Amino acid sequence: MKRFIVAALLLGGLPSWGFQAVSWGTVGDVIAEIIGQVQEEHLREHICQLQSREGGEYCNEQGSRWSCDGLAIDRALEYARQYFEALGLKTRLDPYSLGCRPGLSHNIEAELPGTASSQLVLLVAHLDSYVTGVSTASPAPGADDDASGSAAVFEAARIFSQYKFKHTVRFVLFTGEEQWMVGSSAYAKKLASEGAQVLGVFNMDMIGYDGDGNGLFEMWVRPGESEKLADLIIRTIETHGIALAPDVLADPRRGGDHESFWRRGYPALMIIEDTEFGETEDFNPCYHTLCDVLRMLNLSYAKRIAQAVIGAAAQLAEPIQ
Ligand SMILES: [Zn+2]
Repeated sequence: MKRFIVAALLLGGLPSWGFQAVSWGTVGDVIAEIIGQVQEEHLREHICQLQSREGGEYCNEQGSRWSCDGLAIDRALEYARQYFEALGLKTRLDPYSLGCRPGLSHNIEAELPGTASSQLVLLVAHLDSYVTGVSTASPAPGADDDASGSAAVFEAARIFSQYKFKHTVRFVLFTGEEQWMVGSSAYAKKLASEGAQVLGVFNMDMIGYDGDGNGLFEMWVRPGESEKLADLIIRTIETHGIALAPDVLADPRRGGDHESFWRRGYPALMIIEDTEFGETEDFNPCYHTLCDVLRMLNLSYAKRIAQAVIGAAAQLAEPIQ
């Protein structure tokens, strides 16, 4: 902020191209400042909390966020509610029905209202987890899938809440993803029925495993607006020198919450580690097993992906200086 005032004073007397240069530079400065605030330690803490069973030792690997186990997923939702509310964000549980659980299930949404627009920028992940053969009260730590993406959404909420944006930003954690995107499907349907305008949905699902350390990650897109979201992430990586190698894939139809938005005609994309769908493969060998835990993850890689996505989402939401 200080830099803006100095630059504006210095260039205030120049013709209009000079003023535009200041304006552009200032947005770049704010984005750099936002990207610089993403902290690995915060990602670690959220993943620790989400993979742990309450009452066990700190950062144990015995927790579950299986959506069919009401106690397990509701504990994770409560963690999210407390975190978002402490940031001063308008927080709401979003009800829907899930076949495997009696009564209502919930997604959770936190909102930062735009200063001049109700068009939406969404940063999303799925809070729930799954292990093959999981049952009530058995562990499903899901550190990579998808505590890693949820942690990045929490970190985005923490950083964005310190700024103002032209457009409305929502931080949404879905449940019922592992039952075939039931939560996001209900959420996107509701958005469409309300006539909501969505500028972009950034879905981070498994952003923590980089076994070969090459920084490669994938973006799954559909032709049109969702490709522009990938372009924005690539530009952010280049402009801010983030050590990542992006690989853009045309919809491999593997499943993920972004598809719920595609079905409603909204621009969305999937951000994920190196899967078998690209030319290379470096996918988490612990996917949907009990070893999907924090110690398998590369938090520097998760941080860099979070930086790229948070920086791109901030540009789309247009920070107000
Ligand atoms: Zn997932």
